[in-house]
Amino acid sequence: MQHLVLTWRAKANIISRLSRSRSRLKRISDSFAFAREGRVLKGTLAVSSLERLQDLLAEASGELTYRIEGLKGERGQSMLHLVVGGEIPLACQRCLEAIHFELDVDSLLELVPADVELSQEELEDDTRDFLPVAGELDVAELVEDEVLLALPVAPRHERCGFPGAAHAGERINPFAVLDGLKGKPN
Ligand SMILES: [Zn+2]
Repeated sequence: MQHLVLTWRAKANIISRLSRSRSRLKRISDSFAFAREGRVLKGTLAVSSLERLQDLLAEASGELTYRIEGLKGERGQSMLHLVVGGEIPLACQRCLEAIHFELDVDSLLELVPADVELSQEELEDDTRDFLPVAGELDVAELVEDEVLLALPVAPRHERCGFPGAAHAGERINPFAVLDGLKGKPN
């Protein structure tokens, strides 16, 4: 019996490891077909699996939820509608403690084959967001890219606990000092 139990455990271990690596490597094999067929892909990603994002966080905790929907645009172009939500602990640039930032990514991306060159007019069109695609689309990478674009450039607590930060606004204005000097009788 012991032998059977171990075998079952070993099997379960292998299965769970396989499914973990599968979800980490979730890909859309043909994103143009995905768009054409109006497919939808939903899932979650552990923040700890997104390496570039981690550099900006106070701690690598939490989970992001995403939804990717394929659709056809007005000009018949292949598009992906990407929505990402979740709360991430952004590192405050002053005190490095967490700022709980609510993600609200909602992007409409226009797929273009990576080997097709965009015209100058297309490149300058701010209303269109192009996503060059070469082969398979790595879902985690796409989600991470869009999350990084949605983050504030220099996140800081509104009321930061960093020593000295509270006094930053109370620094003497050098011009006020000058004014004082000007007013002094010689
Ligand atoms: Zn702070």
